[in-house]
Amino acid sequence: MSASYRYAVRAALLYLLLSMIWLQFSSHLLNSFFDNSAELSRWQLINGYAWVVISAGFIFIARARLLRCLGIGAKLRERSEDRERLRQAAAVFDCTREGVLVTNHDGLIVHVNRAFIQITGYQSEEVLGQRPSLFKSGRHPAAFYQAMFATLQSKGEWSGEIWNRRKSGEIYPQWQTIRLIHDDHGRLSHFVAVFSDISAIKNSEHELIRLAHHDPLTDLPNRLLFTDRAQQALTSAQAQKRGCALLMVDLDHFKMINDSLGHTIGDHMLKAVAERLAAMFGPGITLARLGGDEFAVLAESCPQLVQAAALAQRIIDGLKEPFLIDEHQLFINTSIGISLFPGDALSAEQLLRNADSALFKAKSAGRNGYALYTEELTAHAQQRVELAFELRRALEQQQLRVYYQPIHDMPTSRMIGVEALVRWEHPERGLVSPAEFIPVAERTGLIAEIDAWVMRQACQQMCQWQQAGVALSFVAVNVSSRLFARRELYQQVAQVLRDTGLDPAYLELEVTESAVMEDPEVALEQMHRLRELGVRLAIDDFGTGYSSLLRLKRLPVQKLKIDQGFVAGLPGDEDDGAIVRVIIALAHSMGMQVQAEGIEQVEQAALLLELGSHLGQGYWFGRPVPPGQLNWAHAPAIG
Ligand code: C2E
Ligand code: MG
Ligand code: MG
Repeated sequence: MSASYRYAVRAALLYLLLSMIWLQFSSHLLNSFFDNSAELSRWQLINGYAWVVISAGFIFIARARLLRCLGIGAKLRERSEDRERLRQAAAVFDCTREGVLVTNHDGLIVHVNRAFIQITGYQSEEVLGQRPSLFKSGRHPAAFYQAMFATLQSKGEWSGEIWNRRKSGEIYPQWQTIRLIHDDHGRLSHFVAVFSDISAIKNSEHELIRLAHHDPLTDLPNRLLFTDRAQQALTSAQAQKRGCALLMVDLDHFKMINDSLGHTIGDHMLKAVAERLAAMFGPGITLARLGGDEFAVLAESCPQLVQAAALAQRIIDGLKEPFLIDEHQLFINTSIGISLFPGDALSAEQLLRNADSALFKAKSAGRNGYALYTEELTAHAQQRVELAFELRRALEQQQLRVYYQPIHDMPTSRMIGVEALVRWEHPERGLVSPAEFIPVAERTGLIAEIDAWVMRQACQQMCQWQQAGVALSFVAVNVSSRLFARRELYQQVAQVLRDTGLDPAYLELEVTESAVMEDPEVALEQMHRLRELGVRLAIDDFGTGYSSLLRLKRLPVQKLKIDQGFVAGLPGDEDDGAIVRVIIALAHSMGMQVQAEGIEQVEQAALLLELGSHLGQGYWFGRPVPPGQLNWAHAPAIG
C-alpha cells in the first residue's frame, strides 16, 4: 500500500472519530440545557455551523497533509515506473529480432544487442570500442555514406537499405534506421542503429521476379522478359547501327508426342529442346520459351540476312539429332520464322509479330524449314545458305580445282606467267564461277581455307613445272581482301613457301585496289612484311578503287593490273583509252610493271602494247584451264 493512501485513510478515520465525539457531546449538552425547542433549534443551527467550520478546518489540515503525502507518492510512483520502463526496454533491446547498435558521439560502439551478435556473427567484445565502418561491404560508393550523414544531420534520422558484411565475410542486405540521440542540454550524445537482415526478403523478392519472368518448365526467359530484353537490344543496336534478327522457333507436330506418349514425356522433351538450344548459343543470343512448343531466339548482332538464315539452319539441323527421353528415341522437325531489324520492324513487338507471320509461311511451305518475313529474301537467303553449306562440303570432298590462265609478254609473245583461279566442280551444277561463290566464302569465313588451299596448290604446281623445265617467271595467286588485313597472312604465305620449297621470287600475290585502300596504313605494313619474304606484289583490278596517288607511291608494289572493265572499251572508247594511258604512265613513273587483263581481241592487245603495257592476260591469249591443258607453245603474234 502506498504511503499517500495510508495517510488519506488515517486522516479520514481521525475525522470520523472526532465527528462522532462531537455529536455525542453536543446532543448530550443540548438536551440538558434546553427545554424550549425554539432555543434548541437555534443551538442546533449554531452547532451545524460549528460542525461545518471544524470540518472545513480538518479538511484543510488533512488536505495539506494529503497533498504533501500525495506529492511524495507521485515522485515515488514516477521512479518506480521509470524502473519498470527501463526493465521493459532492456528486455526489448535484448529480445528484439532487430539488431541494435549504439555508438557514442565519437562514433565508437558502446552497446550491441543479442540479435546484433546473431546477425553479424561478431561477439560484443569484438566490436565494442570499434567503429561501424568495420561492417562496410564495399558495395556503396563514398557518396552513399555522405548522403546518409547529410540526412542524419538535417533530419536526425536515416532509414534505408544498406549492404554490410558479416564476420564470415558474407555480404548481406539490411534495412537500417539510424537515429541521433541528444542529452538534456541538446548535445549529441549517441547514435542508435536498428537493423534487420533482409536477405530472406530479398531472396524471395528475387524468386518472385524470376517466377514472373521465367518459364517454370525450362527456366528460360518467358515472353515478358524476352520482349523486354529484345527492346533493350534494339535500342542499343540502333545506337550502334547494328542489325538484329528475331527467330521464332516452333516444333513440328509436337502435339503428337503429347497425345501419344503423354504430357510428362512431352514436358521432358521440351526441357531437352530448351537445353539443346541453350547449348548452341553463346553470348549475344537470347533464348526464350514463348509458350507451348514455341521458342524465340534473338541474335543481337546480325548484320546480314544470310547470317540469320544460317542461324535458322543451324537450329533446324541441331534439333534434328534424336532426343533420348525416358528410353524413347524421339525425332523432331522444326519450323522457323525470321524477322529482321531494322529492315522488317523497329520495335520488339512488331518483330515478334513479323516473325510469327514468317513462321506461318514456313509451316505452310511444308514445315521443317525457315522463312523470312519478306518472301524474296527467303529465297535469296536459302540459296546463299545452301551454297555456304555445300561449299564447306566441297572443300572436304575436294571439289575445288585450280585453273591457270596464261600471262604473256606482249613484245615477245611469250607466256611468262600464269594466274591461279579457283573453280568449283559442283557434282550437279558443273563448273561454278568464283564470282558466285567467293563472296559467300568471304561472308562465311570459308575464304581463309580456300585461299590457303589455292596458294598451296599453285606453289606445288609451280615447283612441278620448274622441275619439268618449264620456264615461267611467276605464278600469281589472288588474296581476298578479307584476309589481306589479317596478320596471319604473312605466316600463312611463309608456311606455304616453306612446305612447298618454292623460291618466293616466283610467287606473286594479287591484292585488289579496294582492299589496299580500305586501310592504307595496315596495307602498307602488311605489304612490307610480305616483301621481306621475297614475294612479288600486284594490285588487281586497278582503276576501280580510287587510289590516292600519294599512297600508291609509298606501296612496295611491283605491278598494276589494269581492270578488264577499261580494256573492254578499247580500242573505241575514248574515255577508257584515256584512263588506260594514265594508268600506264602512272605505273611507269613509279617504276611498276603494267599488266592488262581481259584482252579478248588482237586490237586491244596491239593498242595496249603501243601504249606501253607489256604484259597481257585475256581470252585472246588463253582461257583459264587445268594445269595439264596449258599450251606452252602457244605464242600469238600481235603485230
Ligand atoms: P580476277 O583476279 O580479276 O581474275 C580475272 C578474272 O577475269 C577471272 O575470272 C578470269 O577468268 C576473267 N578473265 C580473264 N580473261 C578474261 C577475258 O578475256 N574476258 C573476260 N570477260 N574475263 C576474263 P574468274 O576466274 O571468274 O574470277 C573472278 C574473280 O574471282 C577474280 O578476278 C578474283 O578476284 C576472284 N578469284 C578467283 N580465284 C580466286 C582465289 O583463288 N581466291 C580469291 N580470293 N579470289 C579469287
Ligand atoms: Mg586476279
Ligand atoms: Mg582482276
